[in-house]
Amino acid sequence: MPTPQPRHASRTSGERFAVVDPATGEAFDEAPDQRPQELDAVVARAHEAWRGWRADPLARTSALLAAADAVEAAEAELAPLLTREQGKPLAESSAEVARTAARLRYFAELDPGRLPITDGRPVRSEVRWRSLGPVAAIVPWNFPLQLASAKFAPALAAGNTMVLKPSPFTPLATRLLGSVLAAALPEGVLTIVTGREPLGARLASHPGIRHVTFTGSVPTGRAVAQGAAASLARVTLELGGNDAAILLEDVAVERIADRLFWAAFRNCGQVCMAVKRVYAPARLYPQVVEALAQRAKSVAIGAGLDPGTQLGPVNNGPQLARVERYTAQALAVGARAVAGGHRLDRPGYFFAPTILADVPSECPVVTEEQFGPVLPVLPYRSLDEAVEAANNTGFGLGGSVWGTDLDRAEAVADRLECGTAWINHHGELSLAQPFAGIKESGVGVAGGPWGLYGNLRPFVVHRPEQGRGEA
Ligand code: NAD
Repeated sequence: MPTPQPRHASRTSGERFAVVDPATGEAFDEAPDQRPQELDAVVARAHEAWRGWRADPLARTSALLAAADAVEAAEAELAPLLTREQGKPLAESSAEVARTAARLRYFAELDPGRLPITDGRPVRSEVRWRSLGPVAAIVPWNFPLQLASAKFAPALAAGNTMVLKPSPFTPLATRLLGSVLAAALPEGVLTIVTGREPLGARLASHPGIRHVTFTGSVPTGRAVAQGAAASLARVTLELGGNDAAILLEDVAVERIADRLFWAAFRNCGQVCMAVKRVYAPARLYPQVVEALAQRAKSVAIGAGLDPGTQLGPVNNGPQLARVERYTAQALAVGARAVAGGHRLDRPGYFFAPTILADVPSECPVVTEEQFGPVLPVLPYRSLDEAVEAANNTGFGLGGSVWGTDLDRAEAVADRLECGTAWINHHGELSLAQPFAGIKESGVGVAGGPWGLYGNLRPFVVHRPEQGRGEA
């Protein structure tokens, strides 16, 4: 889903762009609209900073631990600003800040180690790990801080430096985070740049960048990979998803309904690994639809800064239009909105949480990524039919299976073609696990040691055993 962005290649230094509060639809602040040409100096500084930063792992660990403390100490400023520009409830913004600090701590203490290679010959060869250089990170607007930290924590821990570009819809909390981190990190190690396109395109294709790590939509991911091909920089892409949840015959509907609902509607459905389609056995279909609709109708909708809000607005106008379009297309061909189905008659980008029943399976709300508060629920007659439908997508991020017999649920989960399969929940991740989509959901692996190695290159030292090959 490429974000429509005007081209401003001719803009001059010092220009700014407006940032809108999605709860009101009104601009409330501005951010610098940096020109692509400014990246040359920024990347040069990142190169310069790399010399010192890569040299001392112990100093890096201390700096990253201090950075984690600084993030935690700034939570009271970061979380409300994040909610203001992104829309999510304040408690979720606070959780995002906490996760950012936790990720810094996790990677600060992760040691890539060394790996001796033994193959019977009288040589001693060893794999050591080296940093890559300046890394470019480009992130979307749904989890600005959490996704930024998923980029910079492993990249910096590995000894790289980084130039990071947030989405123009959510630049402010990331800029504030950058100044908080600047107190703990040497100059040039992490630079935040903000601006409209073609800033991201120029960053992805900059010849001084050695790794481009991108999170966003599939079409933009393709463009980023093409841009990075110019310098043959390494590419990591975390792209979209269309995760299915399969409910089994023995599922206890009322017991799982809250969890299933929030796995689809958390952050207003704007989660790459949200449940985006539900498949329920035909016998349980009316009960599942009703349980989800009941929750959709009773959820507290409002501005994220209002106490009590459970569901905020959609983040931006183009995204709201997309959610509206997908819903209207489904309703036009016979789907029923059992809850919601329309935007709310109030300022801001609010859409009523929507449960769609009787949706033809070829509707875009089923086959594509809606990325909003709309959930299609589809009946199935045989389990094979459900698994086939779940896998019948170009995406392959996650999926889940819900039922009482855990072994049976696990056997079904094993048949899902995706990177992560959950049982009786959906979307939980540990910092220590790999996170990787298959098919169009991504290239490369984030998370855990895999995320660290994704920011390193192997360097092999190969020498004879003592006494076997002196010159
Ligand atoms: P997007 O692709 O429109 O934008 C993502 C980022 O790329 C933004 O910073 C944007 O400014 C920048 N960008 C736009 N055009 C560019 C170009 N030509 N070259 C370089 N950068 C460019 O995505 P979005 O609408 O901001 O975010 C929603 C998408 O992100 C959804 O598809 C969602 O599934 C995906 N996402 C994936 C994950 C994951 O981990 N797999 C996580 C969160 C979001």
